[in-house]
Amino acid sequence: HKVGGNYQKNPKRREEHMKATGGKVFTRFPPEPNGYLHIGHSKAIAINFGFARYHGGECYLRYDDTNPEAEKEEYFIKIREIVEWLGFKPYKITYSSDYFQELYDLAEKLIDVGKAYICHCSAEEIKKQRGGEERGPRYACPHRERPKQESLQEFRKMMVKPPPVPNDSPEYKRLRHTFYEPGEAMLRMKQDLEDGNPQMWDLVAYRIKNEAHARTGDKWRIYPTYDFTHCLVDSFENITHSLCTTEFVQSRISYDWLCDVLDVYRPQQNEYGRLNIQGTVLSKRKIEKLVANKFVDGWDDPRLFTLVGVRRRGVPPGAVLAFVNNLGVTTANTNIQASRFDQAVRGYLEQTVPRLMMILDPIPVEIENLPEDYLEHIEVPFKQGDAKMGSHQVPFTKTILIDRSDFREVDSPDYFRLAPGKSVGLFKATYPITATRFDKDEKTGKITRVYAHYDNESPNFKKPKAYISWVASSPANNSPIPVTVRLFNRLFKSDDPNTNPEGFLKDINPNSREVYENAVIETGFEEVRKRAPWPEREGEDKSHAGPETVRFQAMRIGYFAMDSDTTEDEIVLNRIVTLKEDAGK
Ligand code: ATP
Ligand code: MG
Ligand code: MG
Repeated sequence: HKVGGNYQKNPKRREEHMKATGGKVFTRFPPEPNGYLHIGHSKAIAINFGFARYHGGECYLRYDDTNPEAEKEEYFIKIREIVEWLGFKPYKITYSSDYFQELYDLAEKLIDVGKAYICHCSAEEIKKQRGGEERGPRYACPHRERPKQESLQEFRKMMVKPPPVPNDSPEYKRLRHTFYEPGEAMLRMKQDLEDGNPQMWDLVAYRIKNEAHARTGDKWRIYPTYDFTHCLVDSFENITHSLCTTEFVQSRISYDWLCDVLDVYRPQQNEYGRLNIQGTVLSKRKIEKLVANKFVDGWDDPRLFTLVGVRRRGVPPGAVLAFVNNLGVTTANTNIQASRFDQAVRGYLEQTVPRLMMILDPIPVEIENLPEDYLEHIEVPFKQGDAKMGSHQVPFTKTILIDRSDFREVDSPDYFRLAPGKSVGLFKATYPITATRFDKDEKTGKITRVYAHYDNESPNFKKPKAYISWVASSPANNSPIPVTVRLFNRLFKSDDPNTNPEGFLKDINPNSREVYENAVIETGFEEVRKRAPWPEREGEDKSHAGPETVRFQAMRIGYFAMDSDTTEDEIVLNRIVTLKEDAGK
């Protein structure tokens, strides 16, 4: 790409632009603050900020806030937070509404150069004018040729607020001819009805909305459309490369047209394909339904692919970026299975987080041949084979806890963990244990305690076939640490919930969240928590690290992060991803 572009019609405008930018690349990420960003947006963020960074340029975060009815303060804040979370620093944070006055002035100029008019047609009439197979040929509306002086007056009239009185009052009726209600008048561009591209068929530039704006309050009554606003604000901000998704390919013609007829600097629009994740829903309307019907806990529920949800689940920002960077930038829209995202996250965490022993469903194992007060400190590396991660010590005592799934009442030859008469290794402990007997609650049929023998008498013990996770059950040694663990499985049953004939809400997986309230973790968790964030990010201010940066691998169970529901009394952990694909239900 030629920076600054030689595509500019007017060389003087190009000169001004070069003076303002010094030839630097400028891009912008322009979300509409009408909801939370999702994983698809991370591609847009990575492309805009990444392209600018690569070329030594700058990227704006620009809120495209021209639809007051849908926009809320909450969304402004969350969007900025997520951009920063992904590690990008906006050159400036701006708002389309910052430019309402400049945009208004250019609208008057557009009328003045004979390229816009006030139209009073209904939506129905406009549809007819656009023609089509059933509707017949395209035609101009009766207002198109009105004198520009008249359009200018009408445009100003669109700004006039109705009197603050009831609609059926005499006062209202007396003044009725001095103002318009929404829908009664709009500003349309006077483009080229002969052109084959619908983006040239007299697009709407301004409409009336009786709605207070989150930032400009009730100052304005008319609001510019996307088609009018976007290219002009790009121009004001001296954007060099206006990068957008491919559904705007057709809009490039009106983008260029408007900049040129107004004789302002014209940036270069380039398109890239949207990123869509399958096996979930991304659309705001649908996520709203999931939240409203309590299928999920909120916009940041870890089962969603909103970026606040992904963050809460514990996915590191670096993994999100690695995922989108790996997809590359093409003009094709990409449909990616959610499992491929998980795979990218897994690969990222594998290299970067420590490992701990955690037990989801503990049963006590009493080692009968050890004395009551037996205490051994066992050195456990945070990551086997990675000395940089360091190691820690865990207590080993007479009673330990293992997972219920690691013990069987009846042994079988293809089973390698604990059973009566069978021995198993305890991860990093010196000797294996052999189960001798067990207690069972006759009512529930559940095993309540296993008894075992520590095979420390003979130095020639047989090397065990398998090692299991364990933690000491020893309050005197502050072990274990109790935790509540949430495991997430896919939120929907099918790969494309949108195609469920009964609607996506009927496609919900009833098992999308499993909670283990009596889980326990080894004492090494304290150090992992203190040393967070994992992975450490260069230059990151640790004081801002949220609970989700306490990340680790629970051996044999998956990757976990601390949830924001954690209190002083309760540690809540989320499973970020399983250790292997298809391990979740
Ligand atoms: P949605 O309807 O999903 O919210 P949108 O296009 O209305 O999408 P905006 O808030 O306008 O959302 O998006 C800001 C920027 O992010 C735009 O440049 C848009 O093209 C881009 N974007 C939105 N969704 C995706 C996606 N799935 N993949 C890539 N870029 C996207
Ligand atoms: Mg949007
Ligand atoms: Mg949008």
